[in-house]
Amino acid sequence: MLIETHAHLDYPDFAPDFDDLLRRATDAGVTRIITIGTSVESSRRAVELAEKHPNVFAVIGVHPTYVEESGEDVITPLRELAGNPRVVAIGETGLDYHSLPSLELAKERKTTQVFVKALQTSTEDQLEAEIHDGAYKSKQASLFEQQLDLAVEVGLNVVIHQRDAWEDTLEIMRPYTGKVRGVFHCFGGSLEQAQEVIDLDHLVSFTGIVTFKNGVSVREVAAKVPLWKFMVETDCPYLAPVPFRGRRCEPAHTRLVAESIASARGISLDEIAEATTETAEKFFRFNR
Ligand SMILES: [Zn+2]
Repeated sequence: MLIETHAHLDYPDFAPDFDDLLRRATDAGVTRIITIGTSVESSRRAVELAEKHPNVFAVIGVHPTYVEESGEDVITPLRELAGNPRVVAIGETGLDYHSLPSLELAKERKTTQVFVKALQTSTEDQLEAEIHDGAYKSKQASLFEQQLDLAVEVGLNVVIHQRDAWEDTLEIMRPYTGKVRGVFHCFGGSLEQAQEVIDLDHLVSFTGIVTFKNGVSVREVAAKVPLWKFMVETDCPYLAPVPFRGRRCEPAHTRLVAESIASARGISLDEIAEATTETAEKFFRFNR
């Protein structure tokens, strides 16, 4: 029995064979699937799926990279959705500095630097991009804090998305220690960073990256982190584990993630399944 703790079942990728996908998950021993919202609309669809399918549960939130598209007030609709008993946590929320305006500009410049005009205006552009970076970061921070506040208010834990923003993410979460717990999903940091998260009473979770040839460091962390401090997920439709790498990922592949971690730790799949299921049952509010 495994719990897939992070899927994006509302994405159009899954529409053509949705029922088959659920059956394949059950056949692989993945008995519960948590579908994660990335916008208000996506969260609404997640709740609809959870209401329709007894083994699907919803997490509702706005992803940091949707900060520009998200409306003025996302909390009112999220609060309303949070009242639904099929909602088991808030998220995914957090910080993502991977595509800051200045980095986008640098990329653009690389391809256009043959043009003299681009070079002449570069300093000015750079300065403007940095101002945009600051504004973009503070918008993400505000959206993150609002969702942490909501989580405290409704008594749910949070699913954290963190990319290239480690320090700022922990800084924002620090005052919430003891009030709300988070899972740092798709964990790709060091063992020290995992320990930092655990010391604050949060969790990590691992995706199919643990099966990748170049996933050595993540696999090592997954082998060493305490057995009761992590969960398994796929983040499907992304990150299909080996031997499906590059193809559409789906919840059934949670088993491959768990098998890979079991073998890295030198224990059985059953032991991983038992521990991660119990951890997920404590973290998510399945029976409200
Ligand atoms: Zn996700």
